[in-house]
Amino acid sequence: QTADERSAQIPRYVRVNTALWSAPQAIKYLEGVGFMLKESISSSAYHPKEFAKDAHIPDLLLFAPQTSFADEPAYQTGKLILQDKASCFPAAVLSPPASDDAVVIDATAAPGNKTSHLSALMRNKGKLYAFERDVRRFNTLKTMLSKAQCSNVVPTHKDFLTVDPNDDEFKDVTHILLDPSCSGSGIVNRLDFLLESGTNEEDSNVTSDRLAKLAAFQLKMIKHAMGFPKVRRIVYSTCSIHATENEHVVREALLSEEAKAAQFILAPRDEALSSWPRRGLLSEMACEDDAHSVIRCSPGEDLTNGFFVSCFIRKGLANGTLK
Ligand code: SAM
Repeated sequence: QTADERSAQIPRYVRVNTALWSAPQAIKYLEGVGFMLKESISSSAYHPKEFAKDAHIPDLLLFAPQTSFADEPAYQTGKLILQDKASCFPAAVLSPPASDDAVVIDATAAPGNKTSHLSALMRNKGKLYAFERDVRRFNTLKTMLSKAQCSNVVPTHKDFLTVDPNDDEFKDVTHILLDPSCSGSGIVNRLDFLLESGTNEEDSNVTSDRLAKLAAFQLKMIKHAMGFPKVRRIVYSTCSIHATENEHVVREALLSEEAKAAQFILAPRDEALSSWPRRGLLSEMACEDDAHSVIRCSPGEDLTNGFFVSCFIRKGLANGTLK
């Protein structure tokens, strides 16, 4: 199968922006404009007017791949967000708190699909700092956040590596999402490439030299995140299929001085989307439990882009609360 053939089979995924309405309200509205809710939709026989709820991500709906939402008012007003299924995993796994005193960081935010997802999960409460270092992408981020009406987000044009973890503003951060630039090698849907990879040139034959540079940068970002004094949960994700950017980076991060100092381990599988069957590559991780802790999506087999998600937690702390 070519990438185009694989991409043609991927459903059109639509996330309900629960900051603005609920999934049942969205479903009722969609039925009112002519769509029919089914138990499931089949990738071998899509029907242009049928849709279904996703089995893993609450508030995510699946439509036939060619379904256009460009003229749909609910899309134009930010109530429906077009977002690949795998790219909904990081915010779901981070599971940020929805409280007035919550302080969360999205370290690499533009164009902002995961930021608006985090904001919705936080029910627009607390503070969500969204950093982006590229000015053009930062402007896109601001547009996207205002369309999605994310009122708890502080978009900040800044390099995350220059953010001081002990600064008064950030010392209480408990959850960090880290979705840094990567090779984008998992992306089969061309339209998703610029949005998801964070790199400017599409390069399916990425060299080992380039992968090594990306991995060094990704590791640096994780280690910086581990330095925030109260951080208890860090999600690291890529849209790469290469172990160099995924399992290897996680393995190195777990062995780092920063991880040892703050006692970071991988969240067990039951805290990281346990219902999703495809897990990390055992041959590339230190042990079976670690491989089961992390998530992979395979572009050929899972009807999503290729993706990787891992979640670091502090020993003795489960799901953001003391055991
Ligand atoms: N999370 C985004 C989403 O779901 O819409 C996609 C993020 S994209 C993979 C990575 C982004 O991180 C790019 O926009 C890139 O410019 C930005 N970036 C890379 N290094 C950064 C850094 N050190 N600080 C802040 N932003 C950074």
